[in-house]
Amino acid sequence: MFDYHIHSHFSADCDTAMEDMIQSAIKKGIKEVCFTDHIDYDYPDPDFIFEFNLKEYDHSIQHMKEHYQNHISIKKGVEIGIQPHLLDRYNTLLNQESFDFIICSMHSTDGYDLHSGKFFEGKSLNEAYETYYTELYDCIKTFKNYSVLGHLDLVKRYRYEPGVHHFHEIIEEILKTIIADGKGIEVNTSGYRSGLDSGMPSRDILELYKDLNGEIITIGSDSHVTGTLGYGFQKTADLLKDIGFNYITTFKNRKPVFHNI
Ligand SMILES: [Zn+2]
Ligand SMILES: [Zn+2]
Repeated sequence: MFDYHIHSHFSADCDTAMEDMIQSAIKKGIKEVCFTDHIDYDYPDPDFIFEFNLKEYDHSIQHMKEHYQNHISIKKGVEIGIQPHLLDRYNTLLNQESFDFIICSMHSTDGYDLHSGKFFEGKSLNEAYETYYTELYDCIKTFKNYSVLGHLDLVKRYRYEPGVHHFHEIIEEILKTIIADGKGIEVNTSGYRSGLDSGMPSRDILELYKDLNGEIITIGSDSHVTGTLGYGFQKTADLLKDIGFNYITTFKNRKPVFHNI
């Protein structure tokens, strides 16, 4: 079991100490965790500054790695929040820092954080989805500095109408681009605990990814507290196997490592 999306007190929206996360992961029998704390430049909500001291982060992770080396493997990752005007800035950062793993996520669209709900005001469901996926697609057409795309259909978590068809055609273009670029996607199991009856992305998108010959998939709980580490992983592994995937991926120095499911 590998949890490839966890946060610690380095993230502005998380109070859990790195060491608490690690000790809890060991207790749950998780073999490897990857810290993916938030860097979200220019986040629309001024109450959150999603930046942290990268030297301290590196130092903490190296220290934890050594201290717990006989119990768990620890990787150094980051979750960046992309917006179209920030791509150069992220490239500069990521070209000078070393991470094992980079999650490319979009938490803000059209200048609004999805979390606040403002983004959805005055938009139909379709318009909101169209805007979100178009902006994401536009970013990854030129931005290539990442390992996996985070919670691809996040927009669904904030606006979901039962019975409505939530797929959007642009998703296929996004997946084709990811695959052509040698990148992957994650299954983010926080969907199961935030009102959706699936991880993110949902099964239909995972099936399309498989049909398009996508292979790189990480699983992450997106935990900000210890209680959710490894949440829904067995269910997710079963789902992936059922769809026909044979591997779950981890990363080292930004290179994928494949493990049989
Ligand atoms: Zn995220
Ligand atoms: Zn996250």
